[in-house]
Amino acid sequence: MSLQVKDLKIYYCMKRGDCKAVEDISFNIEKGESVGLVGESGCGKSTVAYSILRMLPFPGQIVDGKICLDEEDLSSLTEEEMRKYRWAKIAMVFQGAMNALNPIIRVKEQITEAIRQHEPNVSKKEALERARELFKLVGMDPNRINNYPFEFSGGMKQRAMIVMALACNPKFLIADEPTTALDVTVQAQIMELLRKLVEDLGITLMLITHDLSVVAETCKRVIIMYAGKIVESGSVLEIFAQPLHPYSQGLIASIPSIEKSRDQALASIPGQPPNLLEPPTGCRFHPRCQYSQEICSTEDPPVEEIEPDHYVACHLSSGRIVSEKYNRVIRNE
Ligand code: SF4
Repeated sequence: MSLQVKDLKIYYCMKRGDCKAVEDISFNIEKGESVGLVGESGCGKSTVAYSILRMLPFPGQIVDGKICLDEEDLSSLTEEEMRKYRWAKIAMVFQGAMNALNPIIRVKEQITEAIRQHEPNVSKKEALERARELFKLVGMDPNRINNYPFEFSGGMKQRAMIVMALACNPKFLIADEPTTALDVTVQAQIMELLRKLVEDLGITLMLITHDLSVVAETCKRVIIMYAGKIVESGSVLEIFAQPLHPYSQGLIASIPSIEKSRDQALASIPGQPPNLLEPPTGCRFHPRCQYSQEICSTEDPPVEEIEPDHYVACHLSSGRIVSEKYNRVIRNE
């Protein structure tokens, strides 16, 4: 299944004002693609995911824009119509596997109930058989389905959550920080599992993470968000080789590398993400950007295709302003 998001605007409308969590973002994910949605905590990536499933927590609301799954506009469906899509066609692996399962109900009951809720014609026996098959698919002993969640390790709980998401055979999977709180070796196993599922089942994957290195291992394309806006998108290879937006450059520079000497401090992006109740005018990154110039605080840079399939929203990359230092970084001098 393919996804088209067009001019999406999501606000959390509160007494204190509107928190502009997502502002005019557009992107496409083609059938069978694996795409990473990356950014710091609070940049709006999980909000985008919840809005696709129409599960935005109160007081979040889609203020404008369209979300289409294979051309069907999900944002215009009634809740009843949306139920036919949720889990059956598009599913999500939620953040925090440790807490997502009910600890006092056996795993098999939680999974079979989810199947039968969405497919009432499936018998208990058939649902259990399907769940056992999915356990095998994610590399777990199907007999462990009889356990309680507290008898599982963190990695096993995350695999069980992936089984839950796959229970109704969706064709589009959103994985929201699927490796948070897992140790590094289990993280690698879960990412390998997701990669394999995408290949074997022909699933389209949207992977949400703050960790660019996770995207590099799993996805072909990456979309980078900052403060509710898309600042850069393109192929993983191209963006890692030559990030054009100063925020992407900062994210990539902050990835630990075995090539750097031990004495070399990890790079970081100075400052804090802005308060989205009152986001900065112009480019939202300008208070933290080392290349910021006058135009940056007054004019919002449009998203432009700088190279084929490489989109950037920055006055520098589009040539509206010039910085010798930036040019040296881009030319790797
Ligand atoms: Fe920095 Fe200006 Fe580009 Fe924003 S538009 S990232 S402030 S140079």
